[in-house]
Amino acid sequence: MDKALYPYLLFWSIGLLCVLAEWRFPARPIAYRSVFWRDLIALGLYNVSFLAVVQATDRIPIPNYMPAALYSLPTVVKLALFYIVEDFGLYWVHRLMHTKPVWRIHRWHHSPTSLYWLAGIRATIPHIALFNLTYIIALPLLHEASAWAFQVIMVEHIVRNNWMHLNVTWRSSWLEWVFVTPRYHQIHHSTDPAHQRANLGALLTIWDRLFGTYYNPDDVKAELSFGLVERVPPVRLVIGL
Ligand SMILES: [Zn+2]
Ligand SMILES: [Zn+2]
Repeated sequence: MDKALYPYLLFWSIGLLCVLAEWRFPARPIAYRSVFWRDLIALGLYNVSFLAVVQATDRIPIPNYMPAALYSLPTVVKLALFYIVEDFGLYWVHRLMHTKPVWRIHRWHHSPTSLYWLAGIRATIPHIALFNLTYIIALPLLHEASAWAFQVIMVEHIVRNNWMHLNVTWRSSWLEWVFVTPRYHQIHHSTDPAHQRANLGALLTIWDRLFGTYYNPDDVKAELSFGLVERVPPVRLVIGL
């Protein structure tokens, strides 16, 4: 098989598992037929934008700040360091996106009124670029790491976005001590003013707890609703203007 097809095969294999999980343990009824095609177009735009962003950001000269003394660390330790730095960056970039001047590049992501595994794919080009910047800044921490670390990151990044937006009932408070879960991220997408700018974490929940944006999913009593409160023309949403 052509190696270039591997990420697509992986994406749809993971997607199939997500479909099965949502079919077996649905949190809310979703009219999949009416939302799926729109998200499929968003996925196409995401793929094109992502490739363009990667080509552009590849040219940014990030110095290798990894001290030579740490080159011999085991790959698993380097991977943990990478995730801590990347996730810390993602938290602050996401927090920045929820400030008034930058909100417009992020609001497309918050537009779905039904949250399910593919709904989180909506991202404007500047949104993708800022998130990708945290990745390339953390990358030197994987200097001389084994190749499997990069495979883990690729799979984990695909799984994570689907996982965060998954429409499942599973209650998972023990896991939320460390990791973001679907019900944790659903609060972030909620239209309830009490949930505004809450639960900004992408992988770890520690940043929300440390920096005052944590909302305990166990405290949510009413049914959540999702989407944008403001009305924005679709083209402006997609471009981020
Ligand atoms: Zn957000
Ligand atoms: Zn989201």
